[in-house]
Amino acid sequence: MAKKVDSILTNRTPQATAPAVIEPLVLSTTFLRNQDGDFYENGEIYTRAGNPNRTVVQAKLASLENGEEALCFSSGQAATSAVFLSLKSGDHLIIPDDIYHGTKAVLNLIFKDLGISHTAVDFSNLENLKKAKLPNTKLVWIESPSNPLLKIADIKAIADWAKTENIFSVCDNTWATPFFTKPLNLGIDLVMHSTTKYLGGHSDLLGGALIWSDTLNSELKEKLKAIQSLVGGVPSPFDCWLLNRSLATFNLRMRQQSATAAVLVDFLLDHKKVNKIYYPGLVSHQNHEIAKAQMNEGYGAMFSLVINASEKESKKIASKFKIIQNATSLGGVESLVDHRRSAEGVFAISDPALLRFSIGLEDIEDLKNDFIQALD
Ligand code: PLP
Repeated sequence: MAKKVDSILTNRTPQATAPAVIEPLVLSTTFLRNQDGDFYENGEIYTRAGNPNRTVVQAKLASLENGEEALCFSSGQAATSAVFLSLKSGDHLIIPDDIYHGTKAVLNLIFKDLGISHTAVDFSNLENLKKAKLPNTKLVWIESPSNPLLKIADIKAIADWAKTENIFSVCDNTWATPFFTKPLNLGIDLVMHSTTKYLGGHSDLLGGALIWSDTLNSELKEKLKAIQSLVGGVPSPFDCWLLNRSLATFNLRMRQQSATAAVLVDFLLDHKKVNKIYYPGLVSHQNHEIAKAQMNEGYGAMFSLVINASEKESKKIASKFKIIQNATSLGGVESLVDHRRSAEGVFAISDPALLRFSIGLEDIEDLKNDFIQALD
């Protein structure tokens, strides 16, 4: 056999001779040891414990949030559940009353039976959290802006209070994203993300992440790492690769999507079919001043409208949009509208005619015209 062919065939993990510009996708579930028979670094032994595509994207997420380290999971829910798994039976949590409904469901359906209880309050006012605190309160879980009422919590005030009470603080930063708010800089211990949303940005990957600063206690860091690799809710190499690709355009997408959302809110303010707009950029928003202080360069690309219509009519209006697609989720480059009551249920959403919008990257005039034709 020719020497060249022989060397190609015997090289079991072929590398390009010249380094690739685009990160290679490493699908191998298992990895060779080095010449001394030892394992390489980064847990690259077996892909549940470590994979090069995951290592790269974890480092980028840590850097985006100004954190020390990040762990990626197979979904936002897997990341959330990893945090709850790190608690002990008897622990109590304080959560927002309009927390993402999946987070509430996992607490009610799974963690309640494991002895982890919670109290839900309105996070617009720190006094509500102080009243909800119990002797066994271990964790406070923030979401700001909240879903779908875009309530704003004062992240720094809550983080400072939690520290004095020896309570561990977590912020689900999925909606604000590190482009607008960096909770670790405001004193939060741990940030959680559904990377399915803005960080992924193209509605084509499912993922979650936890990111901490160096102030997090080392016992908890080790426990979270063990939960990631042993419970095994890890993302596939391809989802990590997609997420890494998406991060290249993250800042540009955020800047443009939020600018477009701000123009649309302004345009919709006086529309006869719109009874109310939930958007933290409005001066009339209850906590606009806090939003202004803790969100940089804009207020995000999400807003909710209460339509002057019945529940049935508002659901029909959602289907009338031609560019804005009638589907759940958020954060992608394509705009979405979602009738939240039929997505979350009547007990979670009191307003029957609330439509939530996630604004994407389409042309602003096309989006305005879409609102005109759907609402009129
Ligand atoms: N947190 C927030 C604020 C969300 O909006 C979502 C999903 O919509 C999640 C967490 C859960 O993320 P995933 O769907 O990736 O599990």
